[in-house]
Order: sequence, then structure tokens, then C-alpha cells
Amino acid sequence: MGRRIAVLSLQGAFVEHEKLLGELGITCFEVRQRKDWNQPKNGLIIPGGESTTQSKLLVDLGLMDPIKDEILGGLPVFGTCAGLILLAKNMEGSPFKRLSTMNISVRRNAYGRQLGSFHARGSFAGQDIPMTFIRAPYIESVGAGVEVLSVVDGHIVAARDGNQLVTAFHPELDDCQVVYEYFARMFG
Ligand code: GLN
Repeated sequence: MGRRIAVLSLQGAFVEHEKLLGELGITCFEVRQRKDWNQPKNGLIIPGGESTTQSKLLVDLGLMDPIKDEILGGLPVFGTCAGLILLAKNMEGSPFKRLSTMNISVRRNAYGRQLGSFHARGSFAGQDIPMTFIRAPYIESVGAGVEVLSVVDGHIVAARDGNQLVTAFHPELDDCQVVYEYFARMFG
């Protein structure tokens, strides 16, 4: 059977992910409500956007716990930016409900709110790629067993914890397949 990836499509930059995965021959379906989630899937994308809004919608739609359960059960997941924030186990203040499945500590809006958007080039798992940061978080520290995949200006901006992959930057905005090829290897 072909591979099918669920793309959380409540808010934010989800269409761009579908385009890049489509170019790799991977089928996507959008998750907008609870019943969408029941479809068979090989992985999940949690896009960038506004993590507080996504959190509220996840709770209101009854999606927070079912998604959390499948991630803890081993479903491959890739979170970008707001998605990273939702996956992180630890965040200072922790003012809103998150999936909290990945053993990392995140700092939200870590580059400041106004001047927080910029482009950089950096190494991702050993390959030089373009990186777009938009009011991005970074990872302050990682727990045992978490692999650091990118460090830019001394800050961790990509990591993997078993079935969970996160980037603080937005690979979907740079038309660069490197991170998607990496994610695709996680679900075989
Ligand atoms: N600053 C946003 C948040 O806290 C994340 C920004 C993004 O996803 N581009 O949710």
C-alpha cells in the first residue's frame, strides 16, 4: 500500500508540506476534525502557525488525546515551529496544553517577537540546507536519547527523539527536500 501522511490542518502552513511530500510520491490527507483522524496513516505532520491557537483547537475538537496516544504508540511525527512547541515535553511557564511527547525543552519566540524572522544556512544531519525562521522557538536542551540534528548560532534547531522529528525552521517554505527525505526514512 502507498504511504499516507496525516497533515494537521487546523491552522498555519500546512498546504506547503503537502506539496513537498507530494513531490516525493507520498499521499497526504488533511486532519480538520476528529473523524479525519481515524484514517489509516504512516505518519503525521504538525505545521507551523500559532501554537496557542493550534492547542486550543486540538482540545476543542477532541484531537489532543487521540493524537498524543498514537505518537506515544510509535507513529512517526514531524513538527515544524509551532509543531515543535506542541511536541516539546518542557516549556518554561507551560501556559497551555500541549502534546508534550518529546523529551526536549523549548523556548518559545526565542529570537524576539519583532526581529524574529530570518533566513540562514545550516547543517541538517550533515547536509547544508536553507532555513527560514519565523518567530521561531529553539530547543534549550534535549533529554537522554534525543539526537541533535542542527545547531545554528549555538542554538539547537532540529532534533529527533525516536519516532519524533522537529525543526524550529520551516523547510516547507524553502522548497528543499532534505528534511522530507529524512522524515520519509522514518516511516520507511
Ligand atoms: N511563534 C509561534 C508560536 O509560538 C510559532 C511560529 C511559527 O510556527 N512560525 O506558536
